[in-house]
Amino acid sequence: MSGEMSGEIELSMRGPEAYRLARAAIDGMEDHKIWPTPLNFELWLHYLGNPEGPLGQAIGQLLKDGDPITEAVAEGLAAEFLPKARLNEEIRDAGDKLNQQLQNISAAIKTAQKSTDAYGRALAGASEELADDTLQATTVTRLVNSLATATKKVQRENASLEKRLNASTNEVSRLREHLEQVRREAMTDALTTLANRKALDEGLMRACAEADATGKPMSMAVVDIDHFKRFNDTWGHQTGDQVIRYVASVMGRVGEHPRLAARYGGEEFAVLFPREEMAEVARELDAIRREIGSRTLKRRSTNEDLGAVTVSVGVAQYLKGEGPAGLIERADAALYASKRAGRDRVSCADLQRSEAA
Ligand code: GH3
Ligand code: MG
Ligand code: MG
Repeated sequence: MSGEMSGEIELSMRGPEAYRLARAAIDGMEDHKIWPTPLNFELWLHYLGNPEGPLGQAIGQLLKDGDPITEAVAEGLAAEFLPKARLNEEIRDAGDKLNQQLQNISAAIKTAQKSTDAYGRALAGASEELADDTLQATTVTRLVNSLATATKKVQRENASLEKRLNASTNEVSRLREHLEQVRREAMTDALTTLANRKALDEGLMRACAEADATGKPMSMAVVDIDHFKRFNDTWGHQTGDQVIRYVASVMGRVGEHPRLAARYGGEEFAVLFPREEMAEVARELDAIRREIGSRTLKRRSTNEDLGAVTVSVGVAQYLKGEGPAGLIERADAALYASKRAGRDRVSCADLQRSEAA
């Protein structure tokens, strides 16, 4: 998975391939007379990295139709397809709404204060009049009546204030729930509902820190679908997506808490195994690999036989102090060993650091 493009989900800009991609993006923008703003650059990277993904297809269509990619169009694309931009927009939105609620509350309190002041003045005035020795019974009646009216008015206003405060409180907790959901979505891969790469990176950081602190074992597996490009080319992107979902569901089953299964890129998955040794993990994954390869897939829409897909797996056990990047690198190397050896197999990384590392 090093340096590989993985569509709108996450864009890796490390490794030699990244330079080629960046140059191609700039050339492409120049050819199409698009300014190289940071946003356009990001969009072009996604477009070139995965022209068949949803964002790639949207941009491809615009270019084909000769529609200009204006700033507004670019922002629209980002909002629709780039998870980060979507998240920012949601947060801005929630912020605006929260602000509106706070303004409502503050206005309600000001109104309440004004009427309380007026009520206080009415009471003070009445008290002065009552202090008069020559007071008539009719005057007392008038005063009592006017005080009763003022009291009712304040009660009404208090009730209305309470109602508005309640409504605002409800709206604020609704917003909080919404933001919580947005936060969850930001950690979830939309296609498969597995954890996404961001969630995996966070989980991995925690697991490495725990392993460093406790000295307990911890393992990680990377899983890549074999010859998936061929599968896509033969059956189309939609059917390809179905296969990704299928493999994801198997991974989700393997990666139940406290394990963590994530979609790491296009057709790649990663599973963390806190407090587990590599040998045991590898045995379990080998059984899973066999199960996936023995299943004949059917195209949902037409019931056509798609044959089987196989997966290659690399497993590595954490070496104290190597950190997330070291572990990923070794799991990746094990995956590529599986690919080189003919695919549809599980390979394990060395339990010691290699000389090169
Ligand atoms: P290998 O056995 O070496 O892994 O071969 P491969 O064809 O699977 O490897 P490669 O990484 O070259 O191709 C992966 C392909 O996956 C490229 C891309 O078209 C496709 N792909 C990436 N993301 C998605 C996606 O979200 N949906 C679909 N349908 N295809 C995707
Ligand atoms: Mg791949
Ligand atoms: Mg593959």
